Amino acid sequence: MISSHVTVHIDLDRVRSEAEGIRRRTKVDLIAVIKADAYGLGAGFVADALAGVVQGFYVFELAEARDIELKRYARPILSLLDDMDDPVPYEELGVRPVVWTADRASALRRARPVLSVDTGQQRFACEAEAVDRIVKAGSIDEAMTHAKDLAQVKRFLEATSAYSLRRHAAGSGLLDEPAAWLDAVRPGLALYEEAVTVTTPLVDARDSKGPAGYGGFVTQRHGVILAGYAHGLRQGVCVINNQRRRIVEVGMQTAFVELGAKDRVGNRVTLLGETLRPNEVATHWHTTPQEVLVRMCAMGPRSYQAK
Ligand SMILES: *Cc1c(COP(=O)(O)O)cnc(C)c1O
Repeated sequence: MISSHVTVHIDLDRVRSEAEGIRRRTKVDLIAVIKADAYGLGAGFVADALAGVVQGFYVFELAEARDIELKRYARPILSLLDDMDDPVPYEELGVRPVVWTADRASALRRARPVLSVDTGQQRFACEAEAVDRIVKAGSIDEAMTHAKDLAQVKRFLEATSAYSLRRHAAGSGLLDEPAAWLDAVRPGLALYEEAVTVTTPLVDARDSKGPAGYGGFVTQRHGVILAGYAHGLRQGVCVINNQRRRIVEVGMQTAFVELGAKDRVGNRVTLLGETLRPNEVATHWHTTPQEVLVRMCAMGPRSYQAK
């Protein structure tokens, strides 16, 4: 559930300028990954902001392209997961299905399928030995892999070297590796990680008198915010008056934060944004920055800034 006391601010200009920066730096095509509602930022808004900058979009399934009428931007759309073997819905929605069997490649040939090659993930992709059959069955002219390192990119190139294909392998994790850029890059996180700010006001601030909360945490001063685990919050870190502060205990719809001497009721508590990036929160949450973005964007009502 969302907390009406939390504001999720999404800077679409920042999303666009990140995309422009990636284009300038790599000089290859940019396929924007907007699956999962663009990591929670809002796929429709993000697609609108990026349409003039990117050369394609990537979604998880066909319904995501349909929901926001993605076809209207006249960019190729790749969709990973649909078990439908009828090419018509794909053609109607301007979507190219990602395939990894010869049967589907053949059935979906008219929708210009894109081959997915396994280089380590061991899902939604074919073995190197199957590439030849699938390329022929689907008249394939484009191939991808979901690579996590350069060794996997190399495996991908070896598996597909015999064919004339447009190739892409790199998500955000390989944007610093020119050898991974190939004909296009396919980032999600890098487009969004600096664009989200999540804030909530401090509603209580006091000097602590011995152990407090359910768990008996000990601080000099503490305060309360109206966000809890029901909204997806976890223990970790926040920013109050430009200082890192600990989120010391998370309850269902509230959380305790450690305070400095000057923090007051009404001060802004930043859960994500300003200097606090998804990576830092992810370290505290023992998860990925992608998961942090998705959870953070779901914490409160979203508001948008765009030119
Ligand atoms: C999600 C996804 C990406 C983007 O990954 P980031 O690390 O967020 O950039 C790229 N390619 C595929 C196939 C994906 O599923």
